[in-house]
Amino acid sequence: MPSKNLVQGEKGLLCPKCSHLNPGDLKQCEYCNSQLFVKCKKCGAKVQRVISSCPECRHRMHKSRFGKLKRRLFGKSEKITLGQAAIMMIVSFGAYKVITMAASKF
Ligand SMILES: [Zn+2]
Ligand SMILES: [Zn+2]
Repeated sequence: MPSKNLVQGEKGLLCPKCSHLNPGDLKQCEYCNSQLFVKCKKCGAKVQRVISSCPECRHRMHKSRFGKLKRRLFGKSEKITLGQAAIMMIVSFGAYKVITMAASKF
């Protein structure tokens, strides 16, 4: 005979933020209170946040922040040119400088 906890666990909703498995039909994570569902912008279906595309209409739910940043920096092209690579290096070197300068103050 399977335990009740196991059955609940199978039906539970995984929190996208803290990975806590929430039992039943909760709308918010019982552990960190983050939203477990997101409304599909295309068809309005209630979709679990851990799912990356809408099960109703296959609309992509999540756009990664990195993808957005990359598009802003490099436009739509997937290839990174030498100039763009140089910019990346300068930016990361600048960040490194700032961090080391901040660290040396202490
Ligand atoms: Zn949570
Ligand atoms: Zn949808």
